[in-house]
Amino acid sequence: MTKALALISGGLDSILAAKAIKDLGVDVIGVYFKTPFCLRKKKDITTSTELANELSQNAGIELKIVELNDEFLAIVRHPKHGYGKNINPCIDCKILMLRKAREMMESLGASFLISGEVLGQRPMSQHHPALDMISKEAEVEGILLRPLSAKHLEPTIPEQKGWVDRDKLFDFSGRTRRPQMELAVMLGVIDYPNASGGCLLTDPLFSKRLRDLMKFGVYDMKNVALLKVGRHYRFAYDAKLIVGRDEAENTDIEKLAQDGDILFVPPPDLAGPSALARGNFSEDQLKLSAGIIARYCDLAGKLSIDISYRKLPESDWRVLNVAPVPDEESEKYRL
Ligand code: SF4
Repeated sequence: MTKALALISGGLDSILAAKAIKDLGVDVIGVYFKTPFCLRKKKDITTSTELANELSQNAGIELKIVELNDEFLAIVRHPKHGYGKNINPCIDCKILMLRKAREMMESLGASFLISGEVLGQRPMSQHHPALDMISKEAEVEGILLRPLSAKHLEPTIPEQKGWVDRDKLFDFSGRTRRPQMELAVMLGVIDYPNASGGCLLTDPLFSKRLRDLMKFGVYDMKNVALLKVGRHYRFAYDAKLIVGRDEAENTDIEKLAQDGDILFVPPPDLAGPSALARGNFSEDQLKLSAGIIARYCDLAGKLSIDISYRKLPESDWRVLNVAPVPDEESEKYRL
């Protein structure tokens, strides 16, 4: 049986493309490239492991998960083809993922690749010249089948060789989602995980934080992980505060703290966030930080409260008694 490797993004289109080709009698394996900018788990977003389980149960497709770390950070910093609306380097990202998929083909015994792109669906990377250029730069011309828009595109090798019947492929184009929704019902792909993918690089707020990190901080995996957590405040080029928004984020903040950071905690008898200060903080900035943290504490009627902090890895706690900082003051520093 002919084998193909399908790029699975977590969005509906890539799952439909893979399932459609599987239903034509091709042995399809999926690959999910996990980048440092995939969303943290939320109620409506699946993790890559959950995606693998869903795909295996609902579509009978085995999913390989491949992490792209430093090389992905590099293309986000200097994308050859520029950014989309936010800090999303979609063209460079697709080229990188297709190249990686091409490199995996031989060991998996795959004869071609599948992707879920739809002509004209996204302004930056899915118009005709962009699709051609992406295939060319990734060196996958002829071996990349885009089943959802295949009838608008030149026949690929799997179609020419008869491994896939071109007549059974699709002619979707443009931004409407209706054909995909109908196809999902036809193929029995009902319980799909997340119809819009889940890349933080398309999020305006996250883009602002990331640009700030590239400008003032150390742009590495650890600092990128921290961008996904909490409320962020920048007081100076080398002084940034991150305040947890819920219990889970308070735990994440404590896990992501490293030597040299200052960790803040609220009084044990009052509910409130943990926070982390990274950089060089003056006494005034420490006080301001404690005041911002107090703003998110349950004050139980008090005008001021004690916020404890310690510099890691030291074990000595210090205490600042502070009143909550008003929102109009804290918003000046908010990222
Ligand atoms: S949205 Fe994110 S993951 Fe998707 S192509 Fe663009 S950069 Fe890549």
